[in-house]
Amino acid sequence: MSAPVVVCTWQGAGDDVAEETAAALTLGRRVAAESGTELRWLVLGPAPEDLVETARSHGVTVVDTFGDARLESPGPDAVVEAVARYSASRPAALIVFNQHFGTRFVVPRVAGRIDAAVVMNCTDVELAESGGFLVTAAAYGGDTRAVYAPDPERTCVVALLANAVLPEPVETPAQAPPVEDVDIDVAGVEERVRIVEQARSEGPRLEDAEIIVAGGRGLGSPENFKLVEELAETLGGMAGASRPIVDEGWTDSAHQVGLTGRITRPALYVAAGISGATQHMAGCSAAKTIVAINTDPDAAIFRYAKYGIVGDCLEVLPEMIRAVREAGVAR
Ligand SMILES: Cc1cc2nc3c(=O)[nH]c(=O)nc-3n(C[C@H](O)[C@H](O)[C@H](O)COP(=O)(O)OP(=O)(O)OC[C@H]3O[C@@H](n4cnc5c(N)ncnc54)[C@H](O)[C@@H]3O)c2cc1C
Repeated sequence: MSAPVVVCTWQGAGDDVAEETAAALTLGRRVAAESGTELRWLVLGPAPEDLVETARSHGVTVVDTFGDARLESPGPDAVVEAVARYSASRPAALIVFNQHFGTRFVVPRVAGRIDAAVVMNCTDVELAESGGFLVTAAAYGGDTRAVYAPDPERTCVVALLANAVLPEPVETPAQAPPVEDVDIDVAGVEERVRIVEQARSEGPRLEDAEIIVAGGRGLGSPENFKLVEELAETLGGMAGASRPIVDEGWTDSAHQVGLTGRITRPALYVAAGISGATQHMAGCSAAKTIVAINTDPDAAIFRYAKYGIVGDCLEVLPEMIRAVREAGVAR
């Protein structure tokens, strides 16, 4: 059997969300099945409560957990060290991480330590006819997709973008996989990156919203963002924003949609006063239906929109709020 596919999740650093772990396991399982190899799940940090059931429902062959107490809440340096040593004793064909704030610090360094290829912003992995993998990734700030063919003789490490793969548990799960304790001592590792403050957002996440109403610079002023929030609330959805208005402090960064914000996949995305720059669309173009409101009929957002309204969002948003209320579809 060829070298395994390893899905590596780092609880406490952005992998606490079951959906993203499930997405990485779904990709790992597909690649492992096509390669005829095993799927291992390497869990860093405290194991999720439903560890064994999640592993079983995603066709994991073996779960590896770290026994070292320091890895209960590991920092980036400890994670790099632990994964590098793990990989030295169990060389993998492919290592899949979820891409988030925590793993951005880690993935390229793991690859460097084990002399592997690395692809960030990954959206898919397929087998190449010649052997090895073809890794698709968002490139040029989300403008385009690039397909990389890493050296098949080396391990390939990828960081999977949120919402790039739909989680799909197996239809008939096999028996529960064994959970093996990996004995790696990271006691001597010094953490060189110190996180002094970390934004913590509570409540529902934009990534999971079914309906998003987002506003951009076309709103004109910070007070008008409340129209976006009001329509979102009336529709039972969440408010989103383009980066410039987050940078200006009209709303906080948990609302930013786009390449450097949240990658969303709602059923409905209403974009008010947003031009449709590729970096913004990287975070919402997977929406089932986009409704755009813009005064400029040539705005790029209309290329993505199913329904376009050429008009002033300060007039259109109040009308939409009224219409939704009158129609009684408000939640
Ligand atoms: C590396 C990098 C990463 C980035 N990441 C992100 C990201 O994650 N998310 C993001 O959003 N951006 C990101 N950007 C910025 C991005 O390139 C755009 O600059 C940004 O998305 C534009 O925001 P906007 O559409 O709100 O503003 P603008 O581009 O200024 O567009 C405003 C729009 O509003 C319209 N308008 C004006 N008045 C009205 C009105 N009264 N009613 C209706 N429409 C009106 C205008 O016609 C215009 O189309 C990134 C850029 C870089 C370089």
